[in-house]
Order: sequence, then structure tokens, then C-alpha cells
Amino acid sequence: MGMNAVLQPQRRIPEWQAVLTGSFTRPAQLLAYLQLPPDLPGLKLAEVRDFPLRVPLGFAGRMEKGNPEDPLFRQVWPSPREAEKSPHFATDAVGDLDKLRPGGLIHKYHGRALVIATGACAINCRYCFRRHFPYAEAKASRKHWQPLLDELAADQSIEEVILSGGDPLSLADDKLAELVMGLDGIPHLKRLRLHTRQAIVVPERINDELLDWLTDSRLQKVIVVHVNHPNELDTSVGLAMERLKRAGIPLLNQSVLLKGINDTPSVLKSLSERLFEFGILPYYLHQLDRVQGAAHYEVDEAVAKALVRDISGQLPGYLVPRLVREVAGQPSKTWIHW
Ligand SMILES: *Cc1c(COP(=O)(O)O)cnc(C)c1O
Ligand code: SF4
Repeated sequence: MGMNAVLQPQRRIPEWQAVLTGSFTRPAQLLAYLQLPPDLPGLKLAEVRDFPLRVPLGFAGRMEKGNPEDPLFRQVWPSPREAEKSPHFATDAVGDLDKLRPGGLIHKYHGRALVIATGACAINCRYCFRRHFPYAEAKASRKHWQPLLDELAADQSIEEVILSGGDPLSLADDKLAELVMGLDGIPHLKRLRLHTRQAIVVPERINDELLDWLTDSRLQKVIVVHVNHPNELDTSVGLAMERLKRAGIPLLNQSVLLKGINDTPSVLKSLSERLFEFGILPYYLHQLDRVQGAAHYEVDEAVAKALVRDISGQLPGYLVPRLVREVAGQPSKTWIHW
């Protein structure tokens, strides 16, 4: 070891990034880890190059070994059914491309502006409506931040900025701290919201550095996580949520209603109850966005209504998520009244 190694402090790789590096990206490895047959039907690496398999080890650890029907496994396994072409399923299911402004800004709803902070995710969820999103052109990379901040500063009607993606927590803390400092400087902004699944699938992400920039910001914070099944919530997630709660940050959840994964009253009920044990309130239950390759996950709307009606009869009102669908051109998510 030369002198340089001593004099130049190594840039420390945060634990969460090391965890991400160890994620499953090869179907064969995941099958072996889960003790599933190597010939389980699935799309090959080459067939899913634009949206490959990606599963953090800790999330795979919450799956039941030897069970190809496991509700977490089914969210991430590239089923041969993804290749089916469905007439009503598009590549831009929710009309985002029409609304996208330079720098990754999507301003569809009054008062809140959504920022595609990055295209990267810790996990690739097969039902995701952004699986065909042109992130390379769209996302708010650092060179776009000043124009983005200028646009937000120019529109007095915007009170809330939503950092989304992809997953905004895929970005390093120094970058996020810089972006949020910029947002802090815009006087009419009141709230900062994060939409993240990474906090759930890689709970190591909720580290001291993240809590520092969050608590340093003058903005009111709210975090919306994304959990579809109660098995996703283990003690490691509990510790991460505890840290966010101790920082005084309200926690909400959005789920997607997914066939064969959470489309029973008992799973939805225990999901709500378990979320509450973790200090998280159910917010939205989304009807699947009709994105090409995800049709096999769709739950019929009549079934969805019956499910929510059922759990409404069993849970306190604050544990019943709002059943919604995103309809292009509407001024908010569309509530589906059951
Ligand atoms: C869903 C969404 C929001 C947030 O909507 P809320 O109802 O406030 O949760 C904001 N902007 C865009 C573009 C969205 O898709
Ligand atoms: S984490 Fe969210 S954005 Fe990323 S693939 Fe999953 S659902 Fe899509």
C-alpha cells in the first residue's frame, strides 16, 4: 500500500449501495436461492433487456422458499405472460409523456408538481407503469436542476414538490441534499413529498445522511411508501420506519391491486393492519395502470369494488385505502366508488 492510500481518504460506499450491488439480476441465481426448479417458466435475460429482473437480496429473503406462487416472488418474476399483447394496454398508460416538461417535471395536478428525479429503482416490479418510460430523456439529471428550480420558482401555484422516479432514493444523499436545498429556497413551496419503494425493499437506505438532509429542510415532509403485501414488512423495515417516525415524518402507503398477490379481503385487511403496526397509514389502492406486459396482473373493477366494500366492513375507516385509477387528462386520481 503506497502513501496515497493513506493520505487520500477513500470515498466510503454507503451500506445501502453495497446492498444494491448484491441484488439478484440473473433468473437462475434467484431460482437457486429460492429453491425453485431451474426450469420454472420465465422470460430469458435477453427477452427482458429493457426491464430486467432486479431483486435486492433482503427482499428475496422475505419470500417463502420453494413456493413459485409466493406473493413477493410474483411481483418480480418475469412471467412468460409478459409477452402477451393486450389490445387495451399501452406503453404510456397514464399520459405522462404529454405532460412531461424538460428536467423531468410533470405538473398534472393543481398545487403539486412531480419530479422524475431518476429512472433507477432498487427493484423492478413487473406490473410497473413506468417500465417503458424513456428515462434517459426525461429524468431530472443534475444539469437540469437549475432550469427545474427556475420553473418551480416561476409558478406560484405549486406548493408541494413530489420527488418520484424511478425511485428518488436511488440518488446519493449529497445530490438529494443539494436538490432539496434548492427547493428550500423557493418561498412558495410548503411541502416535500417522497414517493419511494426503496425504503421498503432496501431499508438500509434510511441512514443518518438521509435523515440529516430531510430534517435540515424547512419544508413539511411526507413520505409515501409502496407496499403490496404484508409479507414485505419485516423487522428491518420496521426499524427504518421507526427512524422516519422519530424524525416526525408522516408515512403513507400506496399499493397496486394485483391479481394473485393481494386480491383477497384477508390479504388486504392484514396489509392495512400490518402497515398501521409499522406507523404507516394506507393511502391509495391503485387499479393497475394498463401498461403493455402487465395485463395478467389486472383485477376486474367489479372485483376491486367488492374487495374494498368487504374490508370497509371490517376495518376502521382510517385503515381503508382509497380505491383509485389514474385517468389521463383528469385533475386528480379518479376515485372508484364502491
Ligand atoms: C399521482 C400524482 C400526483 C399526486 O397525487 P396525489 O393525489 O396528491 O397523491 C402528482 N402528480 C402526478 C403527475 C401524479 O401522477
Ligand atoms: S419501485 Fe416503483 S417505479 Fe420502480 S419498478 Fe417498482 S413500482 Fe415501478
